[in-house]
Amino acid sequence: MAEVFLTREEAEGDLPALCMCCGAAATTRVTRRFMLRDPEIGGPGVQFAEILAIQRIVALANVPRLSLPTYFCDRHRYYWHLRECLRWGGLAALLTLGFGGLAMAATIIFTTKTESHWPDGCLLFTLVLYMIAWLVPMSRLLRNTIRASRHGDGRILLQHVGAEYVAGLLAQRQP
Ligand SMILES: [Zn+2]
Repeated sequence: MAEVFLTREEAEGDLPALCMCCGAAATTRVTRRFMLRDPEIGGPGVQFAEILAIQRIVALANVPRLSLPTYFCDRHRYYWHLRECLRWGGLAALLTLGFGGLAMAATIIFTTKTESHWPDGCLLFTLVLYMIAWLVPMSRLLRNTIRASRHGDGRILLQHVGAEYVAGLLAQRQP
């Protein structure tokens, strides 16, 4: 994994058609909108969860973004798909598991008229296990995902790209 500061032309989209993972000739181009900084959630003190959620949505909407072309070779062409799948697929599976498990626990409790808490205990245990199994690889993957952010001096920093890509980018700059 490498990082590189982009020149103004590059930040405007003039990037070489090289795979951002391995530096090979690219076959796929995907335009991505990058958040140039993390959303800032201001406001004094602790507030209600609802207000925090709204603040978060507003903060997310206010984050400056930059559209950049990203390039991938045949081998890495599913780079963004993989990440979206893991994120949204994992969330969908979590909800399915949660509601499905809840329905099952309720059915068991009603049909057997049990006073014990083992059905909800099992459900909770499964959910926690699943959360760990999903969140750990996801956060690791997202931490190492290609990102562009604005530095203090206004330059755009492209991070988590392959070293071969950076070499190719620098080679393009030579007159
Ligand atoms: Zn590649």
